[in-house]
Amino acid sequence: MRTLLLQRRTELLKGGDVPVEFEQQEVVTRPDEDAAPLVEMTQVIASNRNRARTEALAAIEDALRRMVDDPEEFGLCEACDEPIAQRRLVLVPTATLCATCQREDEANSSRGRSRRHLTDYR
Ligand SMILES: [Zn+2]
Repeated sequence: MRTLLLQRRTELLKGGDVPVEFEQQEVVTRPDEDAAPLVEMTQVIASNRNRARTEALAAIEDALRRMVDDPEEFGLCEACDEPIAQRRLVLVPTATLCATCQREDEANSSRGRSRRHLTDYR
């Protein structure tokens, strides 16, 4: 999964002007401490560039960080603790909810009661 996420991120970064050396540095250093400058950088990019792409990148960074911080929990649904289907993770590596809970979450959101508290607060 980590390889897959890094590949996705590399693909996204290739589409822009983000320096390659920055990306490599981030991979080998400790993600916790490097997260803040990375988030800042992502936000700077957001003001200039394709916002969707930036958000996709941020989600990937977030997933990578969760993988490092809490490898046991990665791939488990945040709502029900059931493992997220592997094929779903391959399609959506940044998924934090299983397909069932995601549907519920979207149903709630469409009623104006968003529960995306864990991913969208920064
Ligand atoms: Zn679930």
